[in-house]
Amino acid sequence: MEKNVNILTGVRPTGSLTIANYLGAVKPLLELQNSGEEPLLFVADLHAITDYEPEQVKQYIRELVADYLALGVDPEKTTIYVQSVIKGQIMTLSAYLARLTTVAELLRVPTIKDKIKHGQSAESANALLFFYPVLMAADILIQRAKSIPVGEDQVAHLETTRVLAERFNKKYGEIFPIPKVTQVKSLRILSLKGDGKMSKSSPEGAIFLTDTLEEAEKKIKRAQTAGDKEMTPSLESLLLIVKMLDSTEEEQKRADDIIVRHKNGEQVMGEFKDLAIEIVKRFLTRFQTKRKEVLADPTYIDKVLEQGNDFARKNADETMVMVEKAMYGN
Ligand code: AMP
Repeated sequence: MEKNVNILTGVRPTGSLTIANYLGAVKPLLELQNSGEEPLLFVADLHAITDYEPEQVKQYIRELVADYLALGVDPEKTTIYVQSVIKGQIMTLSAYLARLTTVAELLRVPTIKDKIKHGQSAESANALLFFYPVLMAADILIQRAKSIPVGEDQVAHLETTRVLAERFNKKYGEIFPIPKVTQVKSLRILSLKGDGKMSKSSPEGAIFLTDTLEEAEKKIKRAQTAGDKEMTPSLESLLLIVKMLDSTEEEQKRADDIIVRHKNGEQVMGEFKDLAIEIVKRFLTRFQTKRKEVLADPTYIDKVLEQGNDFARKNADETMVMVEKAMYGN
């Protein structure tokens, strides 16, 4: 199975997906896949155990793969593997890379600095969080990936990967391609309740792909919108959902038209929500039907993963042979 790894992307198996996960993470992957790229997608279970129990993470792996397949990820084009099938290789490479950076440098990685300063304190944050940028570098370099699509928040981590790859190559020879960062347009879907980002930590403000049609409808009916003529972040965000959630051109025009009327002072928020409900329900129905089909053959996911895991293992082993030859000599 000869394959040149151009694009690599990862996703943490941490529970049910929301429509924001679909719009922000899955849809850009589908666009890549459908534009003729052959991305590598890994289920980042080692990253997930930073803040979830391993036993729980293990259960989420197959769920996540089922979701991604039902959302349109095509295993003929996108190779899917589970990170931990190459955990030995990744952890060894992490150690080799970690010796090329310093504690001070890792402490300056902005996301680490932020988490330690503003979130968990350095006393309670576990050290795997601190190690995250090195582990991420190993994920990418072990597959010798050339291009990494990331959101804004991951750009700094990618910089660590690039720096580590450059240092390794300079010291031991040109083993790693220096991965290019391709920044995915950042998208921020807000909670329907107006309490920050849509996320599973605020379930009433999030539409889960597993929600029943009634639950989804109820959540949208209660969603925050905007007062007379106003455009609020909540309304902008609901408009994004309506326009991006696989709606037809006609529906998108209808949405724009409703917003124009709203700005002119007409009372149209009910109509707008009805349109949102129609689009969300159709999306959920299609997804849930497809998911049942994916799960109808109990061996399908195993087969998909076996193929992806085989590729990931072979490629990782090849990298480690090159790395160790370069470091230790023949
Ligand atoms: P999480 O489940 O929070 O780890 O998110 C996984 C990925 O889903 C993120 O890296 C984003 O690409 C996407 N995502 C999650 N929440 C949102 C949101 N509210 N708006 C847009 N994209 C999101």
